[in-house]
Amino acid sequence: MTPRLRTAAVHAGERPDPATGASSPNLVMSSTFVTRDPTGFSAHDLDEDSGYLYTRWSNPTVAQLEAKLCALEGAESCLCFGSGMAAAAGLLLSLLDSGDHVVMSDTNYAGVAELGRDTLPRLGIDVSFADTSDPRNVEAALRPATKLIWLETPANPIVRLTDIAAVTRIAAAQPGVRVAVDSTFATPVATRPLELGAHYVMHSLTKYIGGHGDAVGGAVLGARDDISALRLEAGIHYGGVLSPFNAWLIMRGAATLPLRMKAHEESALAVARWLEGHPRVTRVIYPGLASHPQHELARRQMANFSGMLTFRTGDGAELAERLARDLRVIHYAVSLGHHRSLVFRLDTESLMESSFRLEGAQLESYRRYAGDGIFRMSVGLEDPEDLCADLERVLE
Ligand SMILES: *Cc1c(COP(=O)(O)O)cnc(C)c1O
Repeated sequence: MTPRLRTAAVHAGERPDPATGASSPNLVMSSTFVTRDPTGFSAHDLDEDSGYLYTRWSNPTVAQLEAKLCALEGAESCLCFGSGMAAAAGLLLSLLDSGDHVVMSDTNYAGVAELGRDTLPRLGIDVSFADTSDPRNVEAALRPATKLIWLETPANPIVRLTDIAAVTRIAAAQPGVRVAVDSTFATPVATRPLELGAHYVMHSLTKYIGGHGDAVGGAVLGARDDISALRLEAGIHYGGVLSPFNAWLIMRGAATLPLRMKAHEESALAVARWLEGHPRVTRVIYPGLASHPQHELARRQMANFSGMLTFRTGDGAELAERLARDLRVIHYAVSLGHHRSLVFRLDTESLMESSFRLEGAQLESYRRYAGDGIFRMSVGLEDPEDLCADLERVLE
């Protein structure tokens, strides 16, 4: 019997400790492991049945989290990293060679956007940035040298969606093209990209999966052979692996992910509706609102609308100062997916300069969502009435 999502979140990857009967997972901090098997010293000697040897290769606590994430995401295999950026960089650098071409969402997490615009081209990897919210733009960007399509949906910071199944169908028509999805905003509760034909799914565990704002981590999931190759190169050789302590914290967070996502969605919908009715708010973007330009796609692709929304007002820069100074419940801070609500203003012009550098139709599409700037809000687990009251006091 395959357990359902809430059961898998609680139990997958865990079992009572055979030595002590401990019901909660042990935290194994050991960096090295005593072995009776004098195997080789190279990671190339590692196989599926090797015991634990050294924590950069694999660690029992991290392995428990990896098994839990596999169960949630419906994946064969998972590799955890020290951060979401380590996961993204590890996947991109280990898949791509000089001369390869990658198609990347033109709007995505700023760190990945900058990696795509600065680091990859420096290594001789060509990157095309496409507005992936229209799959035809992905098709038009493909070249014979294309190895990878990198999607992020919902995309940071404007919560614009990409139809994953439509893009994987386009990719399947050209042999050798893989599809990776940064699914941090969606979580496996909302969307399971591997079931929609993607080859890799990536998460910043720092966000919803950890869920409590106290541990940085990342993960990539996919087919067994793909993740074994990734472990050898990105895990063992680049070395940006997850600390067992963070794995232990993130595992505790992941156990309540389905319940938290339900509450995040319910409160985000309440806050989004309240913001839509506020006279000073000019635009609210939330996949769960009928006013989201891709609400139909959201209903099809997201079993949960998540807790990320953005809103605009006429006086964004000035309001940002007041929010930072006067909010009492909501924290004015970057990051997202925590039990605490967080809000932060992203000014369109400065984001274009630092990260996205969009022009023409792509800039137009971004501006249709974001105007001169948006407030990105991660709706937490507080009572939504208190969140609205906190905003109301400052918005007046
Ligand atoms: C935060 C985030 C990342 C980077 O993750 P870190 O854990 O901060 O390194 C990547 N993608 C998305 C969508 C994110 O929100």
